[in-house]
Amino acid sequence: AKNVYDFTEGGREMAGLLGGKGAGLAEMTKMGLPVPPGFTVTTEACRHYLRTGTEPGGLRREIEKHLAALEHTAGRRLGDVHEPLLLSVRSGGRNSMPGMMETVLDIGLTDATVRGLAETARQERFAYDSYRRLLQMYGTTVLGLDRGLFDGALHRMKADRGLTDDAGLDAADLTGLVEVYKALIRSATGADFPQDPREQLYEAIRAVFRSWNSERARLYRRREHIPDDLGTAVNIQMMVFGNYGPDSGTGVAFTRDPATGQRGVYGDYLSGAQGEDVVSGVRNAVPLTELRHLDPASYRALGDFTGLLETHYRDLCDIEFTIERGRLWLLQTRVGKRTAEAAFRIAAQLVDEGLIDEDEALARVTGEQLGRLLFPRFAATGDRPPLARGIPASPGAATGAAVFDSAEAVRRAAAGEKVVLVRRETTPDDLPGMVAAQAVLTSRGGKTSHAAVVARGMGKVCVCGAEQLKVEPALRRFTTSEGTVITEGSVISVDGTNGTVHVGALPLEDSPVAAYFEHGTGDGDLVKAVDRILRRADEVRRMEVRANADTPQDAARARRFGAQGIGLCRTEHMFLGERRRLVEAMILARTDPERRAALDALLPLQRADFTGILEAMDGLPVTIRLLDPPLHEFLPDRTELTAALAAAEARGETPDPHATALLAAVNRMHEANPMLGLRGVRLALVAPGLIAMQVRAIAEAVAERHAAGGDPRPEIMVPLVASELELHLVKTEIKRVLAEVAAETGAVTGCPIGTMIELPRAALTAGRIAEEAEFFSYGTNDLTQTVWGFSRDDVEAAFFPAYLEKGIFDTSPFETLDTQGVGRMIEIATAEGRAVRPDLETGVCGEHGGDPASVRFFHHAGLDYVSCSPFRVPVARLEAARASV
Ligand code: PEP
Ligand code: MG
Repeated sequence: AKNVYDFTEGGREMAGLLGGKGAGLAEMTKMGLPVPPGFTVTTEACRHYLRTGTEPGGLRREIEKHLAALEHTAGRRLGDVHEPLLLSVRSGGRNSMPGMMETVLDIGLTDATVRGLAETARQERFAYDSYRRLLQMYGTTVLGLDRGLFDGALHRMKADRGLTDDAGLDAADLTGLVEVYKALIRSATGADFPQDPREQLYEAIRAVFRSWNSERARLYRRREHIPDDLGTAVNIQMMVFGNYGPDSGTGVAFTRDPATGQRGVYGDYLSGAQGEDVVSGVRNAVPLTELRHLDPASYRALGDFTGLLETHYRDLCDIEFTIERGRLWLLQTRVGKRTAEAAFRIAAQLVDEGLIDEDEALARVTGEQLGRLLFPRFAATGDRPPLARGIPASPGAATGAAVFDSAEAVRRAAAGEKVVLVRRETTPDDLPGMVAAQAVLTSRGGKTSHAAVVARGMGKVCVCGAEQLKVEPALRRFTTSEGTVITEGSVISVDGTNGTVHVGALPLEDSPVAAYFEHGTGDGDLVKAVDRILRRADEVRRMEVRANADTPQDAARARRFGAQGIGLCRTEHMFLGERRRLVEAMILARTDPERRAALDALLPLQRADFTGILEAMDGLPVTIRLLDPPLHEFLPDRTELTAALAAAEARGETPDPHATALLAAVNRMHEANPMLGLRGVRLALVAPGLIAMQVRAIAEAVAERHAAGGDPRPEIMVPLVASELELHLVKTEIKRVLAEVAAETGAVTGCPIGTMIELPRAALTAGRIAEEAEFFSYGTNDLTQTVWGFSRDDVEAAFFPAYLEKGIFDTSPFETLDTQGVGRMIEIATAEGRAVRPDLETGVCGEHGGDPASVRFFHHAGLDYVSCSPFRVPVARLEAARASV
């Protein structure tokens, strides 16, 4: 097999084999853009190495062949003592994982070649600056030494010279630093830094392979749902030098603003710097627009190239570049990560610009992003001045206790506290803390710093480069320019949309997108973009989207959010509040007349509930579910009641007869496992008169709505059915009551009667059940609970963290549908149900109905609709469409 591809051999379609970076470099080479020559070792070679611990046979021969060709093109040779070729060795998997894997630059420098480089370049400072960088990167990446060893030595050197910036170090300083670094390596490993450039090269390649499995890379993949077995490619490329001097530099450019999506020139530039200096945020870069003055020719060329790339990729691109003595080189391009709001704006802009069509726009945004846009933001703060201002790097509003290192963030978050991670700058090692935190705040670094890039990718709020802040992790505090000191644990609010930081917890308000759905107001370009994309989504999607709603208010809201009906109206909430006494009376009733009296009192209340909901959803289906939870959930808590009675007795009071009767009922009905107990259809079958009352309330509401000229469309749904006989019995009763009310009122009260499928037995006998049921609604909450045998109320806190850690699943199956198990049940039931009843209507009303990945599954499983909470309705509309294009 071929393990190595020259940049001239690959292309963007080969990202699986060459990784995103390798494919991008090849694509740019093909486009004739100025890319330093090089070649890519495939992800397949990495997988082989990770599997076996050895490189694929023949890999070295292939690399040597490509290296020889590279030396020829470059006109320089690796290890040449007069004019050495230097190489960069960079990782790059299929998916971009910013900063998670390794890079070694300046490979090929040795005690001998560094002198050659200094002489040919006539620049001693530059040569030794490159050498100290190699020693540090090689020491940490290949030899596994602690980065702090090198940073410490560098800081001491700067402190000795009274410097704050690396740029102030002169050739003699850097020559000295090289000696210090070499000594560090010798004392930590017992061996000298290798003076053989080929050894450096091959060791660096292996280290990049291994970095695929570094802890932070694994954590990042788990978090981003990137498969663990892809491996990384390795890009070996001729070095170009941004650290030559002031006429050189390195930077990052975006074709549009990745935070807002606005068109323009965005990015950062750092002169006299190399490689990671910009993205690591260790030095503050200048905005890219400054380059116009520093080097107008390169600035123009960069503008031309980025324009070409954006048109070519038909999307926002981010580009890494280096200027070496006035000559511009492109080192990387990729379709850039962006915030949710930028994603929507850019997709709409690209349609306007004719670069993509409306269906492709659907593919450019996700339900998850839309969900984020619906989150609340901070309400206006009036004149209250912020603690600090920084760069708004990733939008949203977050409040939490300030913490100053990753471990503390993880510790407090695990204990349930909301935290904001405050750092001078973040390094990839801070990833666990960033994952645990609500927001990230840094005092250094720009929009392209590691903190910003990673936070945007994760949808975390981030403000970076708040330079007025003095962050002192060792003292666990930061200080503002006004002298306000914020210590660890104090609550701060971070606004990633405008870049401000406030002390205390600021109040929240609806996002403009949520306000648009809610009130139809707002005409910003973000709202317009969302609206336009959702309109297209509604045209192309096959599945309908309903909402779970149990009040007229929720039903009305659901309609405003685009719901096409109610997929689940849980009637149990209608038994709470003041009505609880009536429910108690029903449960405590000892005689039929007593029970009937209690039910008769509940009837008008239920009827009013249903009338309101049917009115709010006039003309659309409303699936009303008969009472589901066990009755004792409506009674007082057993322990409290027992304690109250015991206390009364201790005080010598005569026991309250009502309380005594209640306790007796609670004790009688107590269940060890209520979720598997007397609930759903079982309750309907054993609690006399209960369903008759509920069905009568529905039928009378229908008659009322008809009389008012409305178009009520209820569907009656029976929960927790396991056998067709249960459904048959209940259905007979439902039909009897419907007919009775029809006779009394003269109204047409008939409606579809169906069932929830939320038990494995129901799924496995779906054919029989479909003989009785006119529709199926998958209750994926209970179905997940019963298919896995996981108590839905307990397990997520109890042991899911351990399961997630071990990789048994990468998200909770209560959040994203387990397609293999629970999904298979749904497929079986749908096929068997439809075989018996071809027009069987199928939907989902569990939480999964609003989860993007699950919605896609339901589309492919051929279901007719999903139903979810009103706020998730737009998300489901979008994802149902994305699944169909
Ligand atoms: C379900 O089980 O998925 C469902 C929708 O019903 P509930 O959550 O009310 O049990
Ligand atoms: Mg259920």
